[in-house]
Amino acid sequence: MKHYEEVKKNIGSLDLCVVSKRRTIEQMMPFYEAGERRFAESRAQELLAKVHEMPSDVQWQFIGHLQRNKVRSVLPYVSCIQSLDSAELARVIEKEAARIDKTIDCLLEIRLALQDENKTGMSSEEAQQVMKECAALPHINVCGMMVMGPHTDDEDEIRRIFMQAHDIFLAFQNQYGTEQFHTLSMGMSDDYRIAVSCGSTMVRIGTYLFEEDE
Ligand SMILES: *Cc1c(COP(=O)(O)O)cnc(C)c1O
Repeated sequence: MKHYEEVKKNIGSLDLCVVSKRRTIEQMMPFYEAGERRFAESRAQELLAKVHEMPSDVQWQFIGHLQRNKVRSVLPYVSCIQSLDSAELARVIEKEAARIDKTIDCLLEIRLALQDENKTGMSSEEAQQVMKECAALPHINVCGMMVMGPHTDDEDEIRRIFMQAHDIFLAFQNQYGTEQFHTLSMGMSDDYRIAVSCGSTMVRIGTYLFEEDE
Protein backbone atom coordinates (compact mmCIF):
# COMPACT_ATOMS: atom_id res chain seq x y z
CA MET A 1 0.00 0.00 0.00
CA LYS A 2 2.97 2.31 -0.52
CA HIS A 3 1.45 3.98 -3.56
CA TYR A 4 -1.83 4.40 -1.69
CA GLU A 5 -0.11 6.23 1.14
CA GLU A 6 1.72 8.43 -1.34
CA VAL A 7 -1.52 9.27 -3.18
CA LYS A 8 -3.31 10.08 0.08
CA LYS A 9 -0.49 12.39 1.06
CA ASN A 10 -0.47 14.12 -2.33
CA ILE A 11 -4.23 14.71 -2.46
CA GLY A 12 -4.63 15.88 1.13
CA SER A 13 -8.30 16.41 1.88
CA LEU A 14 -9.48 15.87 -1.71
CA ASP A 15 -11.74 12.93 -2.52
CA LEU A 16 -10.35 9.68 -3.87
CA CYS A 17 -12.17 7.19 -6.10
CA VAL A 18 -10.47 3.83 -6.16
CA VAL A 19 -10.94 2.72 -9.77
CA SER A 20 -11.52 -0.99 -9.34
CA LYS A 21 -12.36 -2.05 -12.89
CA ARG A 22 -10.66 -5.35 -13.78
CA ARG A 23 -9.59 -5.85 -10.13
CA THR A 24 -10.78 -8.63 -7.88
CA ILE A 25 -12.62 -8.27 -4.56
CA GLU A 26 -9.48 -9.57 -2.90
CA GLN A 27 -7.47 -6.73 -4.42
CA MET A 28 -10.10 -4.16 -3.49
CA MET A 29 -10.61 -5.08 0.16
CA PRO A 30 -7.32 -3.64 1.52
CA PHE A 31 -8.47 -0.21 0.30
CA TYR A 32 -11.84 -0.71 1.95
CA GLU A 33 -10.13 -1.72 5.17
CA ALA A 34 -7.94 1.38 4.95
CA GLY A 35 -11.15 3.43 4.99
CA GLU A 36 -11.94 3.98 1.32
CA ARG A 37 -15.62 3.84 0.38
CA ARG A 38 -15.70 5.22 -3.15
CA PHE A 39 -15.05 2.50 -5.71
CA ALA A 40 -15.44 3.25 -9.41
CA GLU A 41 -16.44 0.88 -12.19
CA SER A 42 -16.81 1.53 -15.89
CA ARG A 43 -18.93 -1.44 -16.96
CA ALA A 44 -22.42 -2.31 -15.75
CA GLN A 45 -21.86 -6.04 -15.83
CA GLU A 46 -18.71 -5.87 -13.73
CA LEU A 47 -20.31 -3.51 -11.24
CA LEU A 48 -23.29 -5.84 -10.82
CA ALA A 49 -20.99 -8.81 -10.30
CA LYS A 50 -19.20 -6.98 -7.48
CA VAL A 51 -21.89 -5.13 -5.54
CA HIS A 52 -22.96 -8.11 -3.46
CA GLU A 53 -19.38 -9.20 -2.84
CA MET A 54 -18.34 -5.91 -1.27
CA PRO A 55 -19.65 -4.42 2.01
CA SER A 56 -22.95 -2.61 1.60
CA ASP A 57 -21.63 0.84 2.57
CA VAL A 58 -19.49 1.13 -0.57
CA GLN A 59 -20.44 4.26 -2.52
CA TRP A 60 -20.23 2.92 -6.06
CA GLN A 61 -19.27 5.42 -8.75
CA PHE A 62 -20.11 4.76 -12.38
CA ILE A 63 -17.41 6.22 -14.65
CA GLY A 64 -17.88 4.51 -18.04
CA HIS A 65 -20.25 5.21 -20.88
CA LEU A 66 -23.64 4.15 -19.52
CA GLN A 67 -25.93 2.58 -22.08
CA ARG A 68 -29.54 3.56 -21.63
CA ASN A 69 -30.66 -0.07 -21.43
CA LYS A 70 -28.31 -0.62 -18.45
CA VAL A 71 -29.62 2.25 -16.33
CA ARG A 72 -32.34 0.21 -14.66
CA SER A 73 -29.97 -2.54 -13.53
CA VAL A 74 -27.22 -0.35 -12.06
CA LEU A 75 -29.26 2.48 -10.59
CA PRO A 76 -30.24 0.77 -7.32
CA TYR A 77 -26.57 0.29 -6.44
CA VAL A 78 -24.72 3.41 -7.52
CA SER A 79 -24.18 6.58 -5.47
CA CYS A 80 -23.02 8.70 -8.37
CA ILE A 81 -23.03 8.48 -12.14
CA GLN A 82 -19.96 10.49 -13.14
CA SER A 83 -20.50 9.94 -16.85
CA LEU A 84 -23.72 11.80 -17.61
CA ASP A 85 -23.11 12.56 -21.27
CA SER A 86 -26.45 13.38 -22.91
CA ALA A 87 -29.92 14.75 -22.28
CA GLU A 88 -31.36 11.41 -23.47
CA LEU A 89 -29.41 9.56 -20.77
CA ALA A 90 -30.59 12.09 -18.16
CA ARG A 91 -34.21 11.45 -19.12
CA VAL A 92 -33.79 7.68 -18.81
CA ILE A 93 -32.05 8.07 -15.44
CA GLU A 94 -34.86 10.34 -14.23
CA LYS A 95 -37.53 7.84 -15.24
CA GLU A 96 -35.80 4.88 -13.59
CA ALA A 97 -34.86 6.86 -10.46
CA ALA A 98 -38.46 8.01 -10.04
CA ARG A 99 -39.59 4.40 -10.39
CA ILE A 100 -37.48 3.31 -7.40
CA ASP A 101 -37.91 6.61 -5.55
CA LYS A 102 -34.22 7.46 -5.45
CA THR A 103 -32.40 10.73 -6.06
CA ILE A 104 -29.14 10.10 -7.82
CA ASP A 105 -26.02 12.30 -7.90
CA CYS A 106 -24.58 12.80 -11.38
CA LEU A 107 -21.58 14.60 -12.83
CA LEU A 108 -21.57 16.18 -16.27
CA GLU A 109 -18.91 14.45 -18.36
CA ILE A 110 -17.19 17.16 -20.33
CA ARG A 111 -14.87 16.56 -23.26
CA LEU A 112 -12.38 19.30 -23.92
CA ALA A 113 -11.09 20.62 -27.22
CA LEU A 114 -8.26 18.79 -28.96
CA GLN A 115 -8.82 15.57 -27.09
CA ASP A 116 -9.04 12.20 -28.76
CA GLU A 117 -12.10 12.02 -30.97
CA ASN A 118 -13.24 8.66 -29.71
CA LYS A 119 -13.60 9.89 -26.16
CA THR A 120 -17.05 10.32 -24.72
CA GLY A 121 -18.38 13.42 -23.06
CA MET A 122 -20.09 16.66 -23.99
CA SER A 123 -18.85 20.04 -25.09
CA SER A 124 -19.26 22.68 -22.39
CA GLU A 125 -22.17 24.12 -24.40
CA GLU A 126 -23.96 20.77 -24.46
CA ALA A 127 -23.22 20.38 -20.76
CA GLN A 128 -24.84 23.77 -20.06
CA GLN A 129 -27.93 22.59 -21.92
CA VAL A 130 -28.07 19.28 -20.04
CA MET A 131 -27.60 21.12 -16.73
CA LYS A 132 -30.62 23.28 -17.55
CA GLU A 133 -32.72 20.26 -18.47
CA CYS A 134 -31.71 18.45 -15.30
CA ALA A 135 -33.00 21.34 -13.19
CA ALA A 136 -36.46 20.09 -14.16
CA LEU A 137 -35.68 16.45 -13.28
CA PRO A 138 -36.35 16.01 -9.56
CA HIS A 139 -34.57 12.65 -9.17
CA ILE A 140 -31.27 13.85 -10.64
CA ASN A 141 -28.86 15.95 -8.62
CA VAL A 142 -26.07 17.29 -10.82
CA CYS A 143 -23.32 18.08 -8.34
CA GLY A 144 -20.33 18.73 -10.56
CA MET A 145 -18.39 17.58 -13.58
CA MET A 146 -15.94 14.93 -14.68
CA VAL A 147 -13.15 15.31 -17.21
CA MET A 148 -10.35 13.17 -18.60
CA GLY A 149 -6.94 14.53 -19.41
CA PRO A 150 -5.52 14.30 -22.93
CA HIS A 151 -3.55 11.22 -23.99
CA THR A 152 -0.10 12.76 -23.99
CA ASP A 153 3.10 12.96 -21.95
CA ASP A 154 3.26 16.69 -22.56
CA GLU A 155 2.67 18.11 -19.08
CA ASP A 156 2.06 21.61 -20.38
CA GLU A 157 -0.68 20.32 -22.64
CA ILE A 158 -2.26 18.36 -19.77
CA ARG A 159 -2.08 21.44 -17.55
CA ARG A 160 -3.64 23.58 -20.26
CA ILE A 161 -6.60 21.21 -20.57
CA PHE A 162 -7.03 20.93 -16.80
CA MET A 163 -6.93 24.72 -16.38
CA GLN A 164 -9.60 24.97 -19.06
CA ALA A 165 -11.69 22.39 -17.18
CA HIS A 166 -11.27 24.37 -13.97
CA ASP A 167 -12.46 27.55 -15.72
CA ILE A 168 -15.58 25.73 -16.88
CA PHE A 169 -16.07 24.40 -13.34
CA LEU A 170 -15.87 27.95 -11.93
CA ALA A 171 -18.38 29.20 -14.52
CA PHE A 172 -20.87 26.50 -13.48
CA GLN A 173 -20.25 27.33 -9.81
CA ASN A 174 -20.93 30.96 -10.54
CA GLN A 175 -24.22 30.10 -12.09
CA TYR A 176 -25.44 27.30 -9.81
CA GLY A 177 -23.57 27.94 -6.56
CA THR A 178 -20.76 26.11 -4.82
CA GLU A 179 -23.19 24.20 -2.60
CA GLN A 180 -24.84 22.61 -5.63
CA PHE A 181 -21.88 22.32 -7.99
CA HIS A 182 -19.10 21.12 -5.71
CA THR A 183 -17.22 18.33 -7.47
CA LEU A 184 -14.56 18.52 -10.15
CA SER A 185 -13.59 14.90 -10.82
CA MET A 186 -10.25 15.20 -12.59
CA GLY A 187 -6.99 13.26 -12.49
CA MET A 188 -5.97 9.63 -13.00
CA SER A 189 -2.82 7.60 -12.27
CA ASP A 190 -0.53 9.46 -14.66
CA ASP A 191 -1.84 12.98 -14.31
CA TYR A 192 -3.47 13.34 -10.88
CA ARG A 193 -0.71 15.55 -9.47
CA ILE A 194 -1.25 18.06 -12.26
CA ALA A 195 -5.02 17.80 -11.78
CA VAL A 196 -4.66 18.56 -8.07
CA SER A 197 -2.56 21.64 -8.83
CA CYS A 198 -5.29 22.79 -11.24
CA GLY A 199 -8.12 22.67 -8.71
CA SER A 200 -9.47 19.12 -8.90
CA THR A 201 -11.65 18.13 -5.93
CA MET A 202 -11.74 14.39 -6.69
CA VAL A 203 -9.25 12.06 -8.36
CA ARG A 204 -9.99 8.65 -9.92
CA ILE A 205 -7.03 6.33 -9.61
CA GLY A 206 -6.71 2.68 -10.60
CA THR A 207 -3.43 1.47 -12.08
CA TYR A 208 -1.08 3.30 -9.73
CA LEU A 209 -2.86 2.00 -6.61
CA PHE A 210 -3.06 -1.61 -7.72
CA GLU A 211 0.02 -2.19 -9.83
CA GLU A 212 2.52 -2.51 -6.99
CA ASP A 213 0.86 -5.75 -5.87
CA GLU A 214 0.91 -7.37 -9.29
C1 LIG B 1 -9.89 3.62 -15.96
C2 LIG B 1 -10.34 4.97 -15.62
C3 LIG B 1 -9.67 5.73 -14.63
C4 LIG B 1 -8.45 5.24 -13.90
O1 LIG B 1 -7.35 5.19 -14.76
P1 LIG B 1 -5.91 4.74 -14.22
O2 LIG B 1 -4.99 5.23 -15.28
O3 LIG B 1 -5.93 3.26 -14.10
O4 LIG B 1 -5.67 5.43 -12.92
C5 LIG B 1 -10.18 6.97 -14.33
N1 LIG B 1 -11.28 7.46 -14.95
C6 LIG B 1 -11.93 6.78 -15.91
C7 LIG B 1 -13.13 7.40 -16.55
C8 LIG B 1 -11.48 5.52 -16.27
O5 LIG B 1 -12.13 4.84 -17.23
